[in-house]
Amino acid sequence: VGDSTDIVNKEMYTFIKEERTLTLRPEGTAGVVRAFIEQGLHRQSKPVKLCYTGAMFRYERPQEGRQRQFNQIGLEQLGIDTPQSDVEVILLALEALKRLGITNTTLHLNSVGTAEDRLGFMEALKELLRPHLPGLCDDCKRRFEQNPIRMLDCKVPTCKQLYDSPLVLDFLDTFAWSEATTSHFKTVCSLLSTLNVAFVKNPKLVRGLDYYTGTVFEITTDLLGSQGAVCGGGRYNNLVEVLGGPATPAIGWAMGVERLAKLANISLTPPVVMVGIGSKPAVLLALAQWFREEHPNHIVEVDLTTKALNKQLQQAQKRGASSVFIVGDDEWVQGMYALKNLETGEQVLLSLPEIVKHLTL
Ligand code: ATP
Ligand code: MG
Repeated sequence: VGDSTDIVNKEMYTFIKEERTLTLRPEGTAGVVRAFIEQGLHRQSKPVKLCYTGAMFRYERPQEGRQRQFNQIGLEQLGIDTPQSDVEVILLALEALKRLGITNTTLHLNSVGTAEDRLGFMEALKELLRPHLPGLCDDCKRRFEQNPIRMLDCKVPTCKQLYDSPLVLDFLDTFAWSEATTSHFKTVCSLLSTLNVAFVKNPKLVRGLDYYTGTVFEITTDLLGSQGAVCGGGRYNNLVEVLGGPATPAIGWAMGVERLAKLANISLTPPVVMVGIGSKPAVLLALAQWFREEHPNHIVEVDLTTKALNKQLQQAQKRGASSVFIVGDDEWVQGMYALKNLETGEQVLLSLPEIVKHLTL
């Protein structure tokens, strides 16, 4: 991920267990690349397309839209280095958002150049910023020495003011990247335009990880307050080699699942099904077990108290259950069960397979 990134410097959860130092993963790409190398996936025909989902951990200031444990879904395309593959990967992100009904977004685009290119860029940036160094925050002073390009991402108002001034913006606008970087980026932009995909060129977009080369992008929205990034990604042509694999260009992105869910108005908590009312606890437990196996996406809870039905219903409601599955002696004998929807109050009598179908709809 890179020693001089905020993720590594400030946001990692690291602890020691029996003399081993362990770190909770802060992002998915490095792990995917390691798997790619270890599993010999580079021997497959190119491009290799992979995706993942899982929990990530970053020691950040918790706030609305920013948790210390959150989920990401991401994808990586390894093995080709063309502007067309950049565009394909970006289109896939937009399509995923569209299918979730999320359309009110802005695509920000930039190129951070090849590794060699970036050395020249950072030297020039340092020359430009050196006279202003005393007025900048401590993080920027450190970044100035370690990784000046990261300064552009600073959120401290005084620093931001400088980086948004004509001095810096003009520099970014006129910096001469190598011919290869410039033409790759130009083709990406013109392809997107041809395809009628709106985007904003954002020369300050540098992304938080060191492994990016060339095209980087972010998809943001105004609908989430200050935590407006839903998707971030870019090309990383050197990472496979850095991690010990054969030189393999690659590009990918990741999205924050909680932010997506909020935008798409999707509840991440599956409905809770309470199995209630029955004189035979063994029957209830067996049914609940059957249900868990048939219906792994639902949280199934069993109410084993002998309270009156309406007390159990109240309890289920308190726990946030969406449906209650009512099992009594008669139901058990007939093989038909009452399924009560707590939101609408509707109650239907169904067989077990019908119940599964009913809840899946
Ligand atoms: P941000 O600018 O919001 O800190 P980032 O650039 O650190 O985002 P990435 O590393 O690109 O984020 O991760 C991809 C996506 O994961 C982000 O666009 C965002 O939707 C989500 N994400 C990142 N950090 C968090 C977090 N702490 N809590 C919730 N979602 C997050
Ligand atoms: Mg971040």
